[in-house]
Amino acid sequence: MIIREISIGSLQIPLIKPFKTALRTVYTLDVILVKITTDNGIIGYGETAPTVAITGESKESIIKAINYIKPLLIDKSIADFDTILDTLHSCIVQNFSAKSAIEIALYDIAAQNAKLPLYKYLGGDKTYFQTGITISLNDTDTMVKDSLEAIQDGFGSLKIKLGFDYREDIDRVSQIYSAVGNNISLKLDANQGWSPEESVKFLNAIEKISIPISFIEQPVDRYDIEGLKYIKQRTSIPILADESIFSPNDARKLLEEEAVDLINIKLDKCGGISKALEIADICKDYDVECMVGCMLEGAISVGAATHVASARSDTITMYDLDAPMLCSSAPVIGGARFDAPRITLSENHGLGIKDITGIIWI
Ligand SMILES: [Mg+2]
Repeated sequence: MIIREISIGSLQIPLIKPFKTALRTVYTLDVILVKITTDNGIIGYGETAPTVAITGESKESIIKAINYIKPLLIDKSIADFDTILDTLHSCIVQNFSAKSAIEIALYDIAAQNAKLPLYKYLGGDKTYFQTGITISLNDTDTMVKDSLEAIQDGFGSLKIKLGFDYREDIDRVSQIYSAVGNNISLKLDANQGWSPEESVKFLNAIEKISIPISFIEQPVDRYDIEGLKYIKQRTSIPILADESIFSPNDARKLLEEEAVDLINIKLDKCGGISKALEIADICKDYDVECMVGCMLEGAISVGAATHVASARSDTITMYDLDAPMLCSSAPVIGGARFDAPRITLSENHGLGIKDITGIIWI
């Protein structure tokens, strides 16, 4: 089975409400699609989204990188799957979101060819997941209101965005906790917004008022490994690394240095399914649990991340895969079902995608 054509498409989906973090505010989900067609007519879909503030990849750079990689994969046989992945990852450094979109489409084809849903092709069996939802960084009253609405919608886990002023953040978290109570799991994400000292002051204050927190995600700058270690030694609240970890090597380094307690795996950061599986396997070696997360991405790439969660369900124990639920429409027909707060994987072969509406082919 030979790769004959690789097409690039674009899709824009307005969000239900603006998504706000310490790094950015987003109103519309901007998705880049990859469609790979083989000589026997199998179509594989992949997807990514530009998250310049985190990955450094813009829509334009992702499209350029895919166009650069494209001719190196055309006419290659899917039977040489490992060689194709080697070519993909070695032909250009970084550009992980572009590589992820292509990888997802390749895995979609490989699983269809094996006549298996992707999660089974990857060795998984879990098909049903409960995701948490992100509460955007706003004034405290808005965040309390958004938290209560999320609980009304059935979510039992909230990821609260913080990271501007740690003193105001203490008030945000305590007001949200007072409003939602003990039965809701609270996860916090500062998106690199604090210094190590501010992080410790924040976490010690939260511990003092006995608010149960699942973890604090990426409190300091992504390169500040010493800062992460400084914080870890001064709090009992688990530290989760997100922006600090792109590649499997990043994961190994942080775990070797005992700088964090947990890791957030995202396909757009690491370069796709094969790298995400590799990171999960490294975490297993260190007996560290992972979360699978997403940027503001569409249903195809978040669906692919859910298949990865199934394939490594012993290590990946948390799911932050809410992005398609933040969208005002669902243009992907078939594939994983997103019924807030549940995600159910398709039993159809590959990713199970039947069609996508509203694509503009580039
Ligand atoms: Mg994060």
